[in-house]
Amino acid sequence: MMMADIATAFPAIEILRDEPLAHYTYTETGGPADYLAFPTNIQETKSLLAYANEEKLPVTVVGNASNLIVRDGGIRGLVMILTKMNQITSTGNTVTAEAGASLIKTTQVAQARALTGFEFAAGIPGSVGGAVFMNAGAYGGEISEVALSAEVLTPAGEIRTLTKTEFDFGYRHSSIQDYDDIVLTATFALTPGDGEAIQATMDDLNARRAAKQPLELPSCGSVFKRPEGHYTGQLIQEAGLQGLKWGGAQVSTKHAGFIVNIDHATATDYLELIHHIQAVIWEKDQVHLETEVRIIGEEPTTTA
Ligand SMILES: Cc1cc2nc3c(=O)[nH]c(=O)nc-3n(C[C@H](O)[C@H](O)[C@H](O)COP(=O)(O)OP(=O)(O)OC[C@H]3O[C@@H](n4cnc5c(N)ncnc54)[C@H](O)[C@@H]3O)c2cc1C
Repeated sequence: MMMADIATAFPAIEILRDEPLAHYTYTETGGPADYLAFPTNIQETKSLLAYANEEKLPVTVVGNASNLIVRDGGIRGLVMILTKMNQITSTGNTVTAEAGASLIKTTQVAQARALTGFEFAAGIPGSVGGAVFMNAGAYGGEISEVALSAEVLTPAGEIRTLTKTEFDFGYRHSSIQDYDDIVLTATFALTPGDGEAIQATMDDLNARRAAKQPLELPSCGSVFKRPEGHYTGQLIQEAGLQGLKWGGAQVSTKHAGFIVNIDHATATDYLELIHHIQAVIWEKDQVHLETEVRIIGEEPTTTA
């Protein structure tokens, strides 16, 4: 294959060739990345982007891959997984985390410093970068309420600081989605509180999550956004689709808004099941179920 050998150019960075992304995604599905890099700091991320731009390699950024379906044909060019860029610091009432830091760990740092406001995210299994990108939220809270600023790398390779007004947060939306920026760090503004009470709230939310969500099986969280005036899970249940199996994928019997991988599912199984659900709900209720999960990569060239 005629391709710049980025792995040779950066011997100090872990870079794998033709690496199946199924090894990293929460659904345990997805085809290979031509190159899969694990930068450990901002400078490495910046250098990799500059090199890829120079060589005209497409670049895809992935966090914890908990809201992602990678098609079975995989991703051409360079994929960067940022989870090794994961420092978390805290001063005053703020917590600053690198993009690859676990959101759950970041909420634990806030709790340890008796800072309140981040409890809602105690069980969201994403990275900080993915959470800002998605404006992740749960139990009445969302990232927009705590995000103060973020350092981003623009597609042209410049580092910029985004302030609160520039995020353009909406329901599962931020300006990062519109400009293809890479989040490098994010700073969250919190409020002094009581460490034990914060922990108690986090424990309660996590218990509620474990009771309702199929955390014991691979999934990608809520597949669909909540349509106005409806509950996705209820629509799917009422259409008789809960428990439906499609290849190795199944509409979760515990929470109909989730699709779980029960038997070596492929991304194609997931995508066909998603399309089937959308078609049935449209036919029955004239409601369009828009995907919340991000779907990237290429179709497979041959079908199984
Ligand atoms: C069991 C389970 C429960 C979940 N519960 C919730 C919930 O309660 N609330 C909720 O909101 N979500 C939930 N999710 C979904 C998911 O955890 C969140 O959307 C999370 O914010 C995604 O972060 P990530 O790092 O995994 O992103 P990824 O899946 O890796 O990526 C998602 C998108 O963000 C982009 N991205 C990732 N990192 C960066 C970066 N540094 N810069 C720019 N773009 C980036 C990717 O390109 C991709 O388009 C759940 C998922 C699972 C599996």
